[in-house]
Amino acid sequence: VTDWALAVDVGGTKLAVARVRNDGSVQVRAQRPTPQSPDADEIWSALLSLISDVSAGDEPERIGVGCGGPMRWPAGEVSPLNLPAWRDFPLRRRLREHHPNAMVRVHNDAVAMAVGEHWRGAGRGSRNFLGVVVSTGVGGGLVVDGRVVNGRTGNAGHIGHVVVDPDGPPCACGGIGCLEAIARGPAVVDWAQRQGWVASVGVATGTALTESARAGDSMAVAALIRAGRALGVALASVVAALDLDTVAIGGGLAGAGELLLGPARAAFDRHARLDFTRDCRIVPTALGVDAGLVGAGAFVLAADHYWPAGAD
Ligand SMILES: [Zn+2]
Repeated sequence: VTDWALAVDVGGTKLAVARVRNDGSVQVRAQRPTPQSPDADEIWSALLSLISDVSAGDEPERIGVGCGGPMRWPAGEVSPLNLPAWRDFPLRRRLREHHPNAMVRVHNDAVAMAVGEHWRGAGRGSRNFLGVVVSTGVGGGLVVDGRVVNGRTGNAGHIGHVVVDPDGPPCACGGIGCLEAIARGPAVVDWAQRQGWVASVGVATGTALTESARAGDSMAVAALIRAGRALGVALASVVAALDLDTVAIGGGLAGAGELLLGPARAAFDRHARLDFTRDCRIVPTALGVDAGLVGAGAFVLAADHYWPAGAD
């Protein structure tokens, strides 16, 4: 048995492949922008060429994948919201056809990130953990009693659709007032612009908003406070339901650091009043962009904790 797995991270903006070792270290990393093509096979070919670069002639025995959802799990038929060319794309079957001797496991990218952070990042040593990604969407993954929780359809941990304001804005899911509708990067930028915020240079993105906030722009600061507050309110409910000890927050908008986490903790402290909820730590993620690859590796390298027996 080789001491590494092939780890794959499929997103709407970038494809990344690496070797992840038994100890969770990431090696031989390769990535490229996701082809913005309506042709499913063009994206598949781009992924295959990254895989062949990273494999470099060594046949992988284990392949773990984190991919944008939704998907049929564990079948690994994926329809990533931000990758319209793939609808019911049989990612797992394709990988198995290409590597017939390999074990292949595919899960939601937010679950991969959370698992990576639990295995080797900010959640290390935690027994009851939630990893949250605040980016174009808001996603998450759950570890309870030391094991990843998948739920009935593999969708447990979807904190983005916890309702934080029943009279709030409509959400892309069809609901109203979901955390994601308020705290996803584009929604935060949108709200700031409606209050009169203008990006000082270039395009209005979450990064530009964070820079403005760092420079003291009060509208940019207010937009991050509003998003952080929604996050803290959602976490108070989730922590009460699940009795967690640690929540780690990552993703693009979490690059705002304390400008987002400070208001999240303040709202959490206001709403989480029971002893067991109050003790939960809210921390930034530790692995940065590698978290998804580390977690994808964990699906096949540390399956005792991160893949349910029989779900293949
Ligand atoms: Zn929603």
